[in-house]
Amino acid sequence: MPQIIDGKAISAQIKDELKEKVASLKEAGVSLCLAVIQVGNDPASSVYVGNKKKACAYIGVDSLSYELPEETTQEELLSLVADLNGRADVNGILVQLPVPAHIDEDAVIRAIDPMKDVDGFHPQSVGALCIGQKGFISCTPAGIIQLLKRSGIEIAGKECVIIGRSNIVGKPMALLLLRENGTVTVTHSKTKDLEEVTKRADILVVAIGKPKMITRKYVKEGAVVIDVGIHRNENNKLCGDVDYDDVAPICSAITPVPGGVGPMTIAMLLQNLVESAAVMR
Ligand code: NAD
Repeated sequence: MPQIIDGKAISAQIKDELKEKVASLKEAGVSLCLAVIQVGNDPASSVYVGNKKKACAYIGVDSLSYELPEETTQEELLSLVADLNGRADVNGILVQLPVPAHIDEDAVIRAIDPMKDVDGFHPQSVGALCIGQKGFISCTPAGIIQLLKRSGIEIAGKECVIIGRSNIVGKPMALLLLRENGTVTVTHSKTKDLEEVTKRADILVVAIGKPKMITRKYVKEGAVVIDVGIHRNENNKLCGDVDYDDVAPICSAITPVPGGVGPMTIAMLLQNLVESAAVMR
């Protein structure tokens, strides 16, 4: 049987560690605050925003919530971001994506002060990651590194294959695995013979956005499989990009959906926020 990588337990452990750090920062007179902005009322976004605020409360940091109407203009949103950039009591700024179509997402990301970019999406944060400098790291891939490390899985020297090259998962994942001395290959929708490439992987990270696409024919026996995908199937149950029942029996370790990568994203957001205190001091 494979090792089931327990993202729920690992994220709970990280949150408890952060809670202690926040308590000692408070004793030293440093308090932390995350500003969360949501434009419009997409139900999924509302759930994510609610979970982020709850997680802040759990570790003892404040959160400010801005629920703006759908018709908010880009100018109004940028003006709010500029205000928050200038506020000494705000450590992190998060604009829940996606924003409505009339707002330029890239312009919003660029407007956030990189010192408060706790999502790690600002070009300066991504550039810093690329050249090995300090900066905030995109939460989902940062969470995957924590899952691997805290499960005792060695990355250095391993063949790491990523399926997907998105800006928030695939690309930063490649940079992080490289930083950990993995030998990294990125595959995508134009990759020829995907199966031939993924079968080389000791560590396979799957971020395609296609329910249960990855079956055992893509996986080498004994590989570690990390499933980033989240979907609701026809019975309203959550599933990933990996066909878990088919793949699990041949892996050495695997993340379930739910309870694998998902819970790590918020834990790493909180970690970025706590680190921001050190950055700003
Ligand atoms: P995306 O749609 O931006 O990117 C998908 C990538 O998959 C693209 O780079 C594309 O080239 C590649 N791809 C598509 N079809 C392919 C194919 N047939 N063969 C090989 N590659 C193919 O998606 P994303 O934002 O990276 O998210 C991927 C999945 O992860 C989604 O299910 C999303 O919901 C989930 N996700 C989960 C979390 C989390 O916290 N767990 C965070 C972000 C995304």
